[in-house]
Amino acid sequence: MTVGKLEGRVALITGASRGIGREIGRLFAENGADVCLNYLKSRDDADSLAEQCRAYGVRATVMQADVSQVEPAKALVEKTLADFGKIDILVNNAGVLTQALVQDMSVETWDAMIASDLRSVFLCTRFALPSMIERRYGRIINVASQLGQKGAPELGHYCAAKAGVIGFTKALAREVGEYNITANCVAPGPIDTDMVAGISESWKDMKRKELPIPRFGRVEEVAPAALLLAADPDGTIFTGQTLGPNSGDVMF
Ligand code: NAP
Repeated sequence: MTVGKLEGRVALITGASRGIGREIGRLFAENGADVCLNYLKSRDDADSLAEQCRAYGVRATVMQADVSQVEPAKALVEKTLADFGKIDILVNNAGVLTQALVQDMSVETWDAMIASDLRSVFLCTRFALPSMIERRYGRIINVASQLGQKGAPELGHYCAAKAGVIGFTKALAREVGEYNITANCVAPGPIDTDMVAGISESWKDMKRKELPIPRFGRVEEVAPAALLLAADPDGTIFTGQTLGPNSGDVMF
């Protein structure tokens, strides 16, 4: 039998097929949460994670949805509520990364980034929130980025989206605290995932040299921050915060 910090909880995790979201899904399941694992394109990866989660003795479903779009995001939340009866924990993790100098950036590139990395956070939160308010319980965890705190060349759209996530989370925290709902960010530094694999070598070299701990992190070094924010009483009085598993790239 699984005995963990999230026993009896239901978690919806967006972008759970790969990378950081995948490890958050696995760790939450290992800690006893039933999980709905959202994906966009990587069905096989989502299925294999669901199987791994079920081996911990919890319920796990997978659902394809483009969370940057209204109807799919709404359907994802509604299906999770229908399957599990509640959503205790929402992890808004799905995101993409592209690179362009602002002077060269197309409006389409800007809009696509804001949709994937910021609008998605609003949409899933907006649709999940009424049921959390009704039940007087919720843990909302938004995966931002340290680049939303410090900026980075060629990532103006990404930095704007992630700074928006941090600002949105603080505003949300002020709105929903009275309902026993917390809203926090995890803002990782560079982490070895497929996302980073796509960045140019020159950028990665530049980045490593900036880091007090001069290496990129691993997903196993990020997911515990999400667990802290999701678990009671560990995370109960964190709200509006931005936790930074970031190799020291940003310090507050
Ligand atoms: P990743 O390995 O590329 O995985 C991205 C995940 O997001 C995949 O599961 C992907 O699903 C999903 N996804 C993307 N767009 C989606 C959409 N519109 N709807 C639903 N799912 C979508 O990336 P990662 O490194 O784990 O990043 C996860 C989060 O951490 C992102 O928000 C990212 O900005 C943030 N972050 C990452 C780093 C880093 O260095 N890696 C640093 C700071 C912050 P499919 O595979 O199914 O398409």
